[in-house]
Amino acid sequence: MSQLAYPYPDHPTPGTTREVVDGVRWLTMPMPGSLSHINLYLLEDQDDWWVVDTGLCIANTESWWRQIFTEELGGRPVKGVICTHMHPDHTGQSKMITDQYRCPLHMTRAEYYQARAFSNSHGGPHTSWLGEDFYHRAGMPRSYLKELAKMWRGRGRGMGMPEMPSGYHRLRDGDVLTIGRHDWRVVVGSGHSPEHACLYCAALKVLISGDQILPVITSNVSVMPVEPDANPLKAWMESHDKFLSTPDDTLVLPAHNLPFYGVRKRLRDLISHHEDRMLAIEEHCVAPASARDLLPVLFAKDLDPRQMMMALGEAIAHLHLLMHRNRIERSLHEDGRYRFVSIAPDLPRRAHPNAHDAPDDGPMMV
Ligand SMILES: [Zn+2]
Repeated sequence: MSQLAYPYPDHPTPGTTREVVDGVRWLTMPMPGSLSHINLYLLEDQDDWWVVDTGLCIANTESWWRQIFTEELGGRPVKGVICTHMHPDHTGQSKMITDQYRCPLHMTRAEYYQARAFSNSHGGPHTSWLGEDFYHRAGMPRSYLKELAKMWRGRGRGMGMPEMPSGYHRLRDGDVLTIGRHDWRVVVGSGHSPEHACLYCAALKVLISGDQILPVITSNVSVMPVEPDANPLKAWMESHDKFLSTPDDTLVLPAHNLPFYGVRKRLRDLISHHEDRMLAIEEHCVAPASARDLLPVLFAKDLDPRQMMMALGEAIAHLHLLMHRNRIERSLHEDGRYRFVSIAPDLPRRAHPNAHDAPDDGPMMV
C-alpha cells in the first residue's frame, strides 16, 4: 500500500456514534483552537461498554457525553475508561465518566501519575526558575518568560489539566484486555508522552492509536523544563520502529484526523521527516547556534508565545537526539546560552542544503 487510504470522508456528528467495525464505535468531540476535534472510541463488551479517551474538561463535551449515555449505549453502563495518555483532551472527562458509572480508569503508570502531578500545577516549571533557566539557555529574551506566564494564566478553560480520578488500574505493554468477543493488546509507545498506550486487535485488524500515530498532523515531541535533558525524539523514533511490524491492512483509529489505512507508509514518512529536520539542523550548526536560532530552519511562520514554547521544545528534542548520535555538541557560553555545533566529520558528504522538506507552518499543538 503506497498511499494512505481514508474509508470515511467525514467525522460523526457530535453526540452520535458510528460503528467502524463489529463492536467498535467512533465519536468526535469538538475542540476550541486549531485542533478543532478529538476522536474517541467505544468498545462493546457483553453487557456494557468501554470508553477509550474522553475529551476536554469543558461543558459542551460533558453534555455531548450525556447525550451519548442516554441515546447511544442501549441503556447499558460503562464498565471501564481507558486513557491512552495524560493530555487534557484525552483525560478531561475521565473523572466525570468514572464517577457516573463507578467504574475504573485504566492507564499506564507513567501517564496516570504525570496527569495527577500536572493537575492544578499552575504552569509548574514554566513559571519557576527552572523555566527561566531553560528558556534563557535556549536563547530567549527575559521578556518571553513574562509573556509565557501571562499566556499560562489566560489559557482557555479546559486546556489545563483536569482533576483526575483518585485511583486507577495499571496498563502495561503487552497486556491483553478481552472485551466482548475480541482480545485487545496494549502496545506502549513514547516520545509524545512518556508511556502512551495504543490498543491493537489482530482479529479485527484495528489499531486505536491515540496521538502516537496520526495520519496528517505530526504529534508534538518536545523537551520541556520539567525534564530539560530528556531525549523524547529517541523514544519516538524507537516507537516508530516498534509499530512498523503492524500489518498494513490494519485500520488505524487515531485521536485526530480521520481513520486510515497505510500505517507503515505513515511511519516511514514520519521517520524520514524527522531525519530530514535533523540533517537541516546539522547543516545550520556548522556555525554555533542556539535553539532559538534554529526556529526558522524548522518553522515558516511567526510564532505566538505558546507556539514558541512548543517550537523550542521540538527544536531541542531534535538537538538532543543529534547529541546522542554524536553529530552535535552543546556548550554553555558566557552569556548563559547553550550553543550547538556540528561535529560529524561526514556531514559534507551527507549534506544537501537545497533539497530539504519545506519548514512546517508552526509546531503542532497536539
Ligand atoms: Zn497528546
